[in-house]
Amino acid sequence: MTAETAWISQRIKKDQIERYLDRGSDFIPNAEIWQKIENAKEPSPEQVREILGRSLEIQTLKPDDLALLMRVNDPALLREMQKIALQIKKKVYDNRIVTFAPLYMGNYCVNNCAYCGFRHDNLEAKRRVLSQDEIRKETETLTGKIGHKRIIAVYGEHPMTGIDYILESMKTIYDVRVPTRHGYGNIRRINVNAAPMSVEELTLLKDGGLGTYQVFQETYHRETYAHLHPKGTLKSDYRWRLYTMHRALEAGIDDVGIGVLFGLYDWRFEVMALLYHAIALESKMGIGPHTVSFPRLEPALNSSCASDSPYRVSDDDFKKAILLIRLAIPYTGMIITARETAQMRRNAIDLGITQTDASTKIGIGSYSEDIQVQQAERQQFILGDTRSLDELVRDFAGMGYITSFCTAGYRCGRTGKCIMELLRSGREGKFCKLNAVLTFQEWLDDFATPETRELGLRVLEKELEEIKRNNPQGFPVFYQFLERVRKGERDLFL
Ligand code: SAM
Ligand code: SF4
Repeated sequence: MTAETAWISQRIKKDQIERYLDRGSDFIPNAEIWQKIENAKEPSPEQVREILGRSLEIQTLKPDDLALLMRVNDPALLREMQKIALQIKKKVYDNRIVTFAPLYMGNYCVNNCAYCGFRHDNLEAKRRVLSQDEIRKETETLTGKIGHKRIIAVYGEHPMTGIDYILESMKTIYDVRVPTRHGYGNIRRINVNAAPMSVEELTLLKDGGLGTYQVFQETYHRETYAHLHPKGTLKSDYRWRLYTMHRALEAGIDDVGIGVLFGLYDWRFEVMALLYHAIALESKMGIGPHTVSFPRLEPALNSSCASDSPYRVSDDDFKKAILLIRLAIPYTGMIITARETAQMRRNAIDLGITQTDASTKIGIGSYSEDIQVQQAERQQFILGDTRSLDELVRDFAGMGYITSFCTAGYRCGRTGKCIMELLRSGREGKFCKLNAVLTFQEWLDDFATPETRELGLRVLEKELEEIKRNNPQGFPVFYQFLERVRKGERDLFL
Protein backbone atom coordinates (compact mmCIF):
# COMPACT_ATOMS: atom_id res chain seq x y z
CA MET A 1 0.00 0.00 0.00
CA THR A 2 1.45 3.44 -0.94
CA ALA A 3 1.29 6.37 1.51
CA GLU A 4 -1.42 7.90 -0.69
CA THR A 5 -3.66 4.81 -0.71
CA ALA A 6 -3.14 4.40 3.05
CA TRP A 7 -4.29 8.01 3.54
CA ILE A 8 -7.32 7.43 1.32
CA SER A 9 -8.32 4.27 3.17
CA GLN A 10 -8.52 6.17 6.49
CA ARG A 11 -10.70 9.05 5.29
CA ILE A 12 -14.29 7.85 5.41
CA LYS A 13 -15.76 7.02 8.83
CA LYS A 14 -18.86 4.93 8.18
CA ASP A 15 -20.25 5.51 11.69
CA GLN A 16 -20.21 9.26 10.96
CA ILE A 17 -22.70 8.64 8.15
CA GLU A 18 -24.88 5.98 9.66
CA ARG A 19 -25.73 7.82 12.87
CA TYR A 20 -27.63 10.48 10.93
CA LEU A 21 -29.70 8.12 8.75
CA ASP A 22 -33.41 7.62 9.39
CA ARG A 23 -33.98 3.86 9.44
CA GLY A 24 -31.27 3.43 6.86
CA SER A 25 -32.51 6.19 4.53
CA ASP A 26 -30.99 9.58 3.79
CA PHE A 27 -32.96 12.80 3.25
CA ILE A 28 -32.97 12.83 -0.57
CA PRO A 29 -35.93 10.71 -1.74
CA ASN A 30 -35.34 10.67 -5.51
CA ALA A 31 -38.74 9.34 -6.57
CA GLU A 32 -40.68 11.61 -4.18
CA ILE A 33 -38.88 14.70 -5.48
CA TRP A 34 -39.69 13.84 -9.09
CA GLN A 35 -43.32 13.09 -8.20
CA LYS A 36 -43.68 16.49 -6.56
CA ILE A 37 -42.17 18.27 -9.57
CA GLU A 38 -44.33 16.38 -12.05
CA ASN A 39 -47.62 16.35 -10.12
CA ALA A 40 -47.66 20.05 -9.28
CA LYS A 41 -50.33 21.92 -11.29
CA GLU A 42 -49.93 25.54 -12.34
CA PRO A 43 -51.02 27.44 -9.19
CA SER A 44 -53.63 30.22 -9.06
CA PRO A 45 -52.45 33.76 -8.25
CA GLU A 46 -54.09 33.37 -4.79
CA GLN A 47 -52.14 30.21 -4.08
CA VAL A 48 -48.91 31.89 -5.16
CA ARG A 49 -49.58 34.94 -2.97
CA GLU A 50 -50.33 32.75 0.04
CA ILE A 51 -46.97 31.01 -0.38
CA LEU A 52 -45.13 34.30 -0.94
CA GLY A 53 -46.68 35.61 2.28
CA ARG A 54 -44.87 32.85 4.17
CA SER A 55 -41.60 33.56 2.37
CA LEU A 56 -41.91 37.19 3.37
CA GLU A 57 -42.32 36.10 6.99
CA ILE A 58 -38.94 34.38 6.54
CA GLN A 59 -40.37 30.87 6.89
CA THR A 60 -38.72 27.97 5.09
CA LEU A 61 -41.16 26.70 2.45
CA LYS A 62 -42.40 23.12 2.12
CA PRO A 63 -41.23 21.11 -0.92
CA ASP A 64 -44.85 21.12 -2.23
CA ASP A 65 -44.87 24.94 -2.14
CA LEU A 66 -41.61 25.08 -4.08
CA ALA A 67 -42.93 22.62 -6.68
CA LEU A 68 -45.94 24.92 -7.20
CA LEU A 69 -43.78 28.05 -7.54
CA MET A 70 -41.67 26.19 -10.10
CA ARG A 71 -44.78 25.83 -12.28
CA VAL A 72 -45.44 29.58 -12.51
CA ASN A 73 -45.03 30.82 -16.07
CA ASP A 74 -47.29 33.86 -16.13
CA PRO A 75 -44.97 36.89 -16.61
CA ALA A 76 -47.01 39.11 -14.27
CA LEU A 77 -46.90 36.52 -11.47
CA LEU A 78 -43.19 35.96 -12.05
CA ARG A 79 -42.64 39.71 -11.66
CA GLU A 80 -44.59 39.57 -8.41
CA MET A 81 -42.33 36.76 -7.20
CA GLN A 82 -39.26 38.82 -8.10
CA LYS A 83 -40.64 41.80 -6.21
CA ILE A 84 -41.15 39.68 -3.09
CA ALA A 85 -37.65 38.15 -3.47
CA LEU A 86 -36.14 41.63 -3.36
CA GLN A 87 -38.30 42.57 -0.38
CA ILE A 88 -37.07 39.49 1.46
CA LYS A 89 -33.48 40.32 0.68
CA LYS A 90 -34.00 43.90 1.83
CA LYS A 91 -35.68 42.71 5.03
CA VAL A 92 -32.95 40.20 5.86
CA TYR A 93 -29.81 41.71 4.36
CA ASP A 94 -30.79 45.30 3.62
CA ASN A 95 -28.87 46.72 0.63
CA ARG A 96 -25.56 45.09 1.51
CA ILE A 97 -23.41 43.00 -0.82
CA VAL A 98 -20.56 41.04 0.71
CA THR A 99 -17.44 40.47 -1.38
CA PHE A 100 -14.64 37.94 -1.06
CA ALA A 101 -11.82 36.39 -3.09
CA PRO A 102 -11.17 32.73 -3.76
CA LEU A 103 -7.65 31.58 -2.91
CA TYR A 104 -6.67 28.30 -4.56
CA MET A 105 -4.08 26.51 -2.46
CA GLY A 106 -3.22 23.55 -4.63
CA ASN A 107 -4.52 21.41 -7.45
CA TYR A 108 -3.34 17.95 -6.47
CA CYS A 109 -6.38 15.72 -6.12
CA VAL A 110 -6.98 12.00 -5.61
CA ASN A 111 -10.45 12.19 -7.18
CA ASN A 112 -11.55 11.98 -10.76
CA CYS A 113 -14.62 14.21 -11.04
CA ALA A 114 -15.48 14.17 -14.74
CA TYR A 115 -16.14 17.94 -14.90
CA CYS A 116 -13.04 19.26 -13.09
CA GLY A 117 -9.68 20.30 -14.53
CA PHE A 118 -7.95 19.23 -11.28
CA ARG A 119 -9.01 15.59 -11.53
CA HIS A 120 -6.29 13.03 -10.90
CA ASP A 121 -6.16 11.59 -14.42
CA ASN A 122 -5.87 14.94 -16.20
CA LEU A 123 -2.23 14.64 -17.18
CA GLU A 124 -2.10 18.09 -18.77
CA ALA A 125 -2.83 19.92 -15.51
CA LYS A 126 0.27 21.67 -14.12
CA ARG A 127 0.26 20.56 -10.48
CA ARG A 128 1.35 22.75 -7.65
CA VAL A 129 0.77 23.33 -3.93
CA LEU A 130 1.50 26.75 -2.46
CA SER A 131 4.23 26.89 0.19
CA GLN A 132 3.50 28.91 3.35
CA ASP A 133 5.69 31.67 1.95
CA GLU A 134 3.71 31.72 -1.28
CA ILE A 135 0.44 31.79 0.68
CA ARG A 136 1.79 34.82 2.57
CA LYS A 137 2.55 36.57 -0.73
CA GLU A 138 -0.88 35.78 -2.16
CA THR A 139 -2.50 37.14 1.01
CA GLU A 140 -0.37 40.30 0.94
CA THR A 141 -1.63 41.06 -2.55
CA LEU A 142 -5.25 40.30 -1.68
CA THR A 143 -5.37 42.33 1.49
CA GLY A 144 -2.69 44.97 0.84
CA LYS A 145 -3.27 45.85 -2.82
CA ILE A 146 -6.90 44.90 -3.48
CA GLY A 147 -8.40 45.34 -0.03
CA HIS A 148 -10.15 42.02 0.56
CA LYS A 149 -11.10 41.16 4.14
CA ARG A 150 -12.53 37.70 3.48
CA ILE A 151 -11.40 34.84 1.39
CA ILE A 152 -12.59 31.41 0.52
CA ALA A 153 -9.62 29.06 0.63
CA VAL A 154 -10.02 26.21 -1.88
CA TYR A 155 -8.25 22.84 -1.56
CA GLY A 156 -8.06 19.71 -3.70
CA GLU A 157 -8.46 16.44 -1.81
CA HIS A 158 -4.94 15.11 -1.34
CA PRO A 159 -2.58 14.19 1.53
CA MET A 160 -0.41 17.19 0.57
CA THR A 161 -3.35 19.49 1.33
CA GLY A 162 -4.85 17.52 4.22
CA ILE A 163 -6.02 18.92 7.55
CA ASP A 164 -2.53 19.85 8.84
CA TYR A 165 -1.81 21.87 5.72
CA ILE A 166 -5.24 23.53 5.87
CA LEU A 167 -4.70 24.60 9.50
CA GLU A 168 -1.20 25.87 8.83
CA SER A 169 -2.34 27.83 5.78
CA MET A 170 -5.17 29.44 7.79
CA LYS A 171 -2.71 30.55 10.44
CA THR A 172 -0.39 31.98 7.78
CA ILE A 173 -3.25 33.95 6.24
CA TYR A 174 -4.56 35.34 9.53
CA ASP A 175 -1.03 36.45 10.51
CA VAL A 176 -0.57 38.71 7.48
CA ARG A 177 -0.98 42.43 8.16
CA VAL A 178 -0.08 44.95 5.44
CA PRO A 179 0.20 48.77 5.73
CA THR A 180 -2.33 50.62 3.55
CA ARG A 181 -2.88 54.33 2.67
CA HIS A 182 -4.35 55.17 6.07
CA GLY A 183 -4.23 52.03 8.20
CA TYR A 184 -3.57 48.35 7.59
CA GLY A 185 -5.16 45.48 5.72
CA ASN A 186 -5.69 41.93 6.94
CA ILE A 187 -7.90 38.93 6.24
CA ARG A 188 -10.54 38.75 8.94
CA ARG A 189 -12.60 35.78 7.84
CA ILE A 190 -11.40 32.61 6.13
CA ASN A 191 -14.10 30.41 4.67
CA VAL A 192 -12.97 27.00 3.47
CA ASN A 193 -14.09 24.95 0.49
CA ALA A 194 -12.54 21.53 0.93
CA ALA A 195 -13.53 17.89 0.72
CA PRO A 196 -15.79 16.30 3.37
CA MET A 197 -14.10 15.73 6.72
CA SER A 198 -14.68 13.83 9.94
CA VAL A 199 -16.11 15.46 13.09
CA GLU A 200 -12.61 15.38 14.64
CA GLU A 201 -11.03 17.27 11.72
CA LEU A 202 -13.93 19.70 11.56
CA THR A 203 -13.46 20.49 15.24
CA LEU A 204 -9.85 21.40 14.49
CA LEU A 205 -10.99 23.63 11.63
CA LYS A 206 -13.39 25.45 13.92
CA ASP A 207 -10.64 25.98 16.49
CA GLY A 208 -8.39 27.30 13.69
CA GLY A 209 -10.76 30.25 13.22
CA LEU A 210 -12.91 29.01 10.35
CA GLY A 211 -15.75 31.24 9.07
CA THR A 212 -18.00 29.17 6.80
CA TYR A 213 -17.36 25.55 5.83
CA GLN A 214 -18.47 25.10 2.24
CA VAL A 215 -19.02 21.84 0.38
CA PHE A 216 -21.17 21.46 -2.73
CA GLN A 217 -23.00 18.20 -3.28
CA GLU A 218 -22.39 18.78 -7.04
CA THR A 219 -25.55 16.80 -7.87
CA TYR A 220 -28.09 15.34 -5.46
CA HIS A 221 -29.21 12.87 -8.12
CA ARG A 222 -27.69 9.54 -7.12
CA GLU A 223 -27.23 7.91 -10.54
CA THR A 224 -25.75 11.05 -12.05
CA TYR A 225 -23.48 11.39 -9.01
CA ALA A 226 -22.28 7.81 -9.47
CA HIS A 227 -21.66 8.36 -13.17
CA LEU A 228 -19.56 11.53 -12.64
CA HIS A 229 -17.53 10.29 -9.65
CA PRO A 230 -15.88 6.98 -10.60
CA LYS A 231 -16.28 4.05 -8.24
CA GLY A 232 -13.35 3.51 -5.92
CA THR A 233 -12.56 7.23 -5.54
CA LEU A 234 -13.21 8.98 -2.23
CA LYS A 235 -15.70 11.30 -3.80
CA SER A 236 -17.82 8.42 -5.07
CA ASP A 237 -19.27 8.03 -1.55
CA TYR A 238 -22.48 10.07 -1.99
CA ARG A 239 -23.54 9.89 1.65
CA TRP A 240 -20.13 10.80 3.11
CA ARG A 241 -20.54 14.06 1.20
CA LEU A 242 -24.28 14.42 1.90
CA TYR A 243 -23.77 14.38 5.68
CA THR A 244 -20.69 16.64 5.81
CA MET A 245 -22.74 19.56 7.04
CA HIS A 246 -24.38 17.47 9.76
CA ARG A 247 -20.88 16.59 10.96
CA ALA A 248 -19.74 20.22 10.71
CA LEU A 249 -22.64 21.38 12.86
CA GLU A 250 -21.96 18.56 15.31
CA ALA A 251 -18.35 19.80 15.47
CA GLY A 252 -19.63 23.26 16.44
CA ILE A 253 -19.11 24.99 13.08
CA ASP A 254 -22.21 27.13 12.93
CA ASP A 255 -21.95 28.53 9.42
CA VAL A 256 -22.24 25.90 6.73
CA GLY A 257 -22.52 26.53 2.98
CA ILE A 258 -24.23 24.14 0.57
CA GLY A 259 -24.60 24.16 -3.22
CA VAL A 260 -24.89 22.19 -6.42
CA LEU A 261 -22.92 22.50 -9.60
CA PHE A 262 -25.71 23.59 -11.94
CA GLY A 263 -25.48 21.83 -15.29
CA LEU A 264 -24.75 18.29 -14.15
CA TYR A 265 -28.40 17.27 -13.82
CA ASP A 266 -31.93 18.72 -14.20
CA TRP A 267 -31.90 22.06 -12.36
CA ARG A 268 -35.46 21.60 -11.04
CA PHE A 269 -34.48 18.44 -9.17
CA GLU A 270 -31.38 20.17 -7.75
CA VAL A 271 -33.36 23.19 -6.51
CA MET A 272 -35.84 20.88 -4.76
CA ALA A 273 -32.98 18.86 -3.26
CA LEU A 274 -31.29 22.00 -1.90
CA LEU A 275 -34.52 22.71 -0.01
CA TYR A 276 -34.63 19.11 1.29
CA HIS A 277 -31.04 19.60 2.51
CA ALA A 278 -31.94 22.84 4.30
CA ILE A 279 -34.95 21.21 5.94
CA ALA A 280 -32.88 18.19 7.04
CA LEU A 281 -30.27 20.46 8.66
CA GLU A 282 -32.91 22.61 10.35
CA SER A 283 -34.86 19.67 11.71
CA LYS A 284 -31.98 17.44 12.81
CA MET A 285 -29.28 19.97 13.72
CA GLY A 286 -31.36 23.08 14.49
CA ILE A 287 -29.48 25.31 12.02
CA GLY A 288 -30.05 25.71 8.29
CA PRO A 289 -27.46 26.62 5.65
CA HIS A 290 -25.68 29.92 6.22
CA THR A 291 -25.21 30.15 2.46
CA VAL A 292 -26.34 28.49 -0.75
CA SER A 293 -23.90 28.82 -3.68
CA PHE A 294 -24.78 28.88 -7.35
CA PRO A 295 -21.79 27.58 -9.31
CA ARG A 296 -22.68 26.82 -12.93
CA LEU A 297 -20.68 24.36 -15.02
CA GLU A 298 -17.85 26.01 -17.00
CA PRO A 299 -15.50 24.55 -19.60
CA ALA A 300 -12.48 22.85 -18.02
CA LEU A 301 -9.23 21.50 -19.46
CA ASN A 302 -9.70 18.05 -21.00
CA SER A 303 -13.27 17.69 -19.78
CA SER A 304 -15.79 16.95 -22.50
CA CYS A 305 -18.45 16.60 -19.80
CA ALA A 306 -17.95 20.22 -18.73
CA SER A 307 -18.57 21.43 -22.30
CA ASP A 308 -21.18 18.98 -23.58
CA SER A 309 -23.41 18.22 -20.60
CA PRO A 310 -27.02 17.65 -21.77
CA TYR A 311 -28.19 19.42 -18.60
CA ARG A 312 -26.53 22.79 -19.20
CA VAL A 313 -28.72 25.43 -17.57
CA SER A 314 -29.90 28.36 -19.72
CA ASP A 315 -29.59 31.90 -18.35
CA ASP A 316 -33.37 32.13 -17.86
CA ASP A 317 -33.56 28.85 -15.93
CA PHE A 318 -30.53 29.81 -13.87
CA LYS A 319 -32.19 33.07 -12.85
CA LYS A 320 -35.36 31.14 -11.99
CA ALA A 321 -33.35 28.76 -9.80
CA ILE A 322 -31.88 31.72 -7.89
CA LEU A 323 -35.30 33.31 -7.47
CA LEU A 324 -36.85 30.06 -6.20
CA ILE A 325 -34.16 29.48 -3.57
CA ARG A 326 -34.48 33.07 -2.32
CA LEU A 327 -38.21 32.41 -1.81
CA ALA A 328 -37.88 28.87 -0.43
CA ILE A 329 -35.00 29.40 2.05
CA PRO A 330 -35.52 33.09 2.75
CA TYR A 331 -33.00 33.52 5.57
CA THR A 332 -30.00 32.12 3.72
CA GLY A 333 -27.10 34.04 2.20
CA MET A 334 -26.73 33.39 -1.52
CA ILE A 335 -23.48 33.36 -3.48
CA ILE A 336 -22.75 33.82 -7.18
CA THR A 337 -19.19 33.76 -8.47
CA ALA A 338 -17.04 35.17 -11.25
CA ARG A 339 -17.81 32.04 -13.26
CA GLU A 340 -20.71 34.22 -14.44
CA THR A 341 -20.62 37.30 -16.72
CA ALA A 342 -20.95 40.82 -15.33
CA GLN A 343 -24.52 41.09 -16.64
CA MET A 344 -25.62 37.81 -15.08
CA ARG A 345 -24.14 38.87 -11.75
CA ARG A 346 -26.08 42.15 -11.87
CA ASN A 347 -29.33 40.31 -12.69
CA ALA A 348 -28.70 37.74 -9.96
CA ILE A 349 -28.14 40.42 -7.34
CA ASP A 350 -31.58 41.82 -8.12
CA LEU A 351 -33.04 38.33 -7.59
CA GLY A 352 -31.65 37.80 -4.12
CA ILE A 353 -27.89 37.12 -4.29
CA THR A 354 -26.04 38.56 -1.27
CA GLN A 355 -22.38 37.66 -1.83
CA THR A 356 -19.97 37.59 -4.75
CA ASP A 357 -16.25 37.46 -5.46
CA ALA A 358 -14.12 40.17 -7.09
CA SER A 359 -10.66 40.62 -8.64
CA THR A 360 -10.88 36.87 -8.98
CA LYS A 361 -7.96 34.71 -10.11
CA ILE A 362 -8.14 30.96 -9.81
CA GLY A 363 -4.73 29.93 -11.14
CA ILE A 364 -2.56 28.65 -8.28
CA GLY A 365 -0.30 31.57 -7.25
CA SER A 366 -1.91 34.00 -9.73
CA TYR A 367 -2.50 36.93 -7.39
CA SER A 368 1.09 37.59 -6.35
CA GLU A 369 2.59 36.47 -9.65
CA ASP A 370 0.25 38.97 -11.28
CA ILE A 371 -0.84 36.64 -14.06
CA GLN A 372 -3.41 38.55 -16.10
CA VAL A 373 -4.24 35.94 -18.73
CA GLN A 374 -6.32 32.94 -17.75
CA GLN A 375 -4.30 29.77 -18.20
CA ALA A 376 -6.37 26.62 -18.61
CA GLU A 377 -3.61 24.26 -17.44
CA ARG A 378 -3.17 26.17 -14.15
CA GLN A 379 -6.80 26.65 -13.25
CA GLN A 380 -9.88 24.60 -12.62
CA PHE A 381 -12.17 26.21 -15.21
CA ILE A 382 -12.46 29.47 -17.18
CA LEU A 383 -13.94 32.61 -15.57
CA GLY A 384 -16.72 34.77 -17.01
CA ASP A 385 -16.01 38.07 -15.20
CA THR A 386 -12.54 39.21 -14.16
CA ARG A 387 -13.45 42.76 -13.04
CA SER A 388 -11.53 44.24 -10.13
CA LEU A 389 -12.98 44.79 -6.67
CA ASP A 390 -12.83 48.54 -7.33
CA GLU A 391 -14.91 48.14 -10.50
CA LEU A 392 -17.45 45.95 -8.69
CA VAL A 393 -17.78 48.33 -5.74
CA ARG A 394 -18.40 51.16 -8.23
CA ASP A 395 -20.94 49.10 -10.14
CA PHE A 396 -22.80 48.16 -6.95
CA ALA A 397 -22.73 51.75 -5.69
CA GLY A 398 -24.35 52.78 -8.99
CA MET A 399 -27.09 50.21 -8.29
CA GLY A 400 -27.59 51.66 -4.77
CA TYR A 401 -25.83 48.80 -2.94
CA ILE A 402 -23.24 49.21 -0.24
CA THR A 403 -20.32 46.77 -0.34
CA SER A 404 -19.90 45.36 3.14
CA PHE A 405 -16.50 44.20 4.35
CA CYS A 406 -17.94 43.34 7.73
CA THR A 407 -16.63 40.13 9.26
CA ALA A 408 -17.87 40.78 12.79
CA GLY A 409 -20.50 38.01 12.80
CA TYR A 410 -18.46 34.99 13.91
CA ARG A 411 -16.10 37.05 16.06
CA CYS A 412 -18.88 38.44 18.27
CA GLY A 413 -20.97 35.29 18.36
CA ARG A 414 -23.54 36.22 15.74
CA THR A 415 -23.49 32.84 14.00
CA GLY A 416 -25.59 29.71 13.67
CA LYS A 417 -28.86 29.61 15.62
CA CYS A 418 -28.38 33.09 16.95
CA ILE A 419 -27.88 34.60 13.53
CA MET A 420 -30.76 32.59 12.07
CA GLU A 421 -33.09 34.12 14.62
CA LEU A 422 -31.72 37.59 13.91
CA LEU A 423 -32.06 37.00 10.16
CA ARG A 424 -35.59 35.68 10.49
CA SER A 425 -36.70 38.65 12.54
CA GLY A 426 -34.97 41.12 10.21
CA ARG A 427 -32.87 42.47 13.10
CA GLU A 428 -29.55 41.24 11.71
CA GLY A 429 -29.95 43.62 8.76
CA LYS A 430 -30.13 46.61 11.09
CA PHE A 431 -27.18 45.53 13.21
CA CYS A 432 -24.95 44.74 10.30
CA LYS A 433 -25.71 47.98 8.53
CA LEU A 434 -23.62 49.84 11.09
CA ASN A 435 -20.65 47.53 10.60
CA ALA A 436 -21.14 47.61 6.84
CA VAL A 437 -20.83 51.41 6.88
CA LEU A 438 -17.72 51.33 9.09
CA THR A 439 -15.96 48.80 6.88
CA PHE A 440 -17.05 50.50 3.67
CA GLN A 441 -15.57 53.80 4.88
CA GLU A 442 -12.38 51.93 5.74
CA TRP A 443 -12.15 50.38 2.27
CA LEU A 444 -12.94 53.65 0.45
CA ASP A 445 -10.19 55.41 2.41
CA ASP A 446 -7.60 52.69 1.89
CA PHE A 447 -8.19 51.31 -1.58
CA ALA A 448 -10.76 53.09 -3.78
CA THR A 449 -9.84 54.95 -6.98
CA PRO A 450 -11.04 58.60 -6.90
CA GLU A 451 -14.02 57.81 -9.12
CA THR A 452 -15.18 54.86 -6.98
CA ARG A 453 -14.58 56.79 -3.79
CA GLU A 454 -16.80 59.63 -4.93
CA LEU A 455 -19.68 57.30 -5.85
CA GLY A 456 -19.16 55.22 -2.71
CA LEU A 457 -19.23 58.25 -0.41
CA ARG A 458 -22.54 59.28 -1.93
CA VAL A 459 -24.07 55.90 -1.03
CA LEU A 460 -22.50 56.15 2.41
CA GLU A 461 -24.08 59.57 3.03
CA LYS A 462 -27.52 58.10 2.29
CA GLU A 463 -26.83 55.25 4.70
CA LEU A 464 -25.84 57.69 7.43
CA GLU A 465 -29.09 59.62 7.02
CA GLU A 466 -31.06 56.38 7.24
CA ILE A 467 -29.23 55.25 10.40
CA LYS A 468 -29.79 58.66 12.01
CA ARG A 469 -33.47 58.59 11.12
CA ASN A 470 -34.09 55.01 12.30
CA ASN A 471 -31.82 54.97 15.33
CA PRO A 472 -31.44 58.51 16.73
CA GLN A 473 -30.38 57.26 20.20
CA GLY A 474 -27.67 54.92 18.92
CA PHE A 475 -26.40 57.31 16.26
CA PRO A 476 -23.90 59.34 18.37
CA VAL A 477 -22.05 56.21 19.56
CA PHE A 478 -21.97 54.82 16.06
CA TYR A 479 -20.74 58.18 14.70
CA GLN A 480 -17.83 58.17 17.17
CA PHE A 481 -16.77 54.81 15.74
CA LEU A 482 -17.00 56.20 12.22
CA GLU A 483 -14.81 59.17 13.14
CA ARG A 484 -12.21 56.81 14.60
CA VAL A 485 -12.18 54.84 11.31
CA ARG A 486 -11.79 58.08 9.36
CA LYS A 487 -8.73 58.87 11.48
CA GLY A 488 -7.10 55.53 10.56
CA GLU A 489 -8.27 53.05 13.23
CA ARG A 490 -9.07 49.72 11.64
CA ASP A 491 -11.24 46.66 12.23
CA LEU A 492 -13.75 48.33 14.56
CA PHE A 493 -17.15 46.70 14.90
CA LEU A 494 -20.27 47.03 17.02
N1 SAM B 1 -12.01 19.38 -3.82
C1 SAM B 1 -13.05 19.91 -3.03
C2 SAM B 1 -14.37 19.34 -3.43
O1 SAM B 1 -14.51 18.85 -4.55
O2 SAM B 1 -15.27 19.44 -2.63
C3 SAM B 1 -13.14 21.40 -3.06
C4 SAM B 1 -12.52 22.16 -4.14
S1 SAM B 1 -13.35 22.07 -5.70
C5 SAM B 1 -12.04 22.79 -6.56
C6 SAM B 1 -14.61 23.33 -5.53
C7 SAM B 1 -15.79 23.25 -6.45
O3 SAM B 1 -15.46 23.58 -7.78
C8 SAM B 1 -16.44 21.92 -6.60
O4 SAM B 1 -17.24 21.61 -5.49
C9 SAM B 1 -17.23 22.06 -7.89
O5 SAM B 1 -18.58 22.38 -7.65
C10 SAM B 1 -16.57 23.25 -8.58
N2 SAM B 1 -16.18 22.90 -9.97
C11 SAM B 1 -15.46 21.84 -10.36
N3 SAM B 1 -15.36 21.82 -11.72
C12 SAM B 1 -16.04 22.89 -12.19
C13 SAM B 1 -16.33 23.40 -13.49
N4 SAM B 1 -15.90 22.79 -14.60
N5 SAM B 1 -17.07 24.53 -13.59
C14 SAM B 1 -17.52 25.15 -12.49
N6 SAM B 1 -17.29 24.72 -11.23
C15 SAM B 1 -16.56 23.59 -11.07
FE1 SF4 C 1 -10.79 17.16 -6.89
FE2 SF4 C 1 -12.72 18.80 -6.01
FE3 SF4 C 1 -11.90 18.87 -8.60
FE4 SF4 C 1 -13.27 16.78 -7.74
S1 SF4 C 1 -14.02 18.93 -7.84
S2 SF4 C 1 -11.39 16.68 -8.98
S3 SF4 C 1 -12.57 16.61 -5.66
S4 SF4 C 1 -10.71 19.41 -6.80
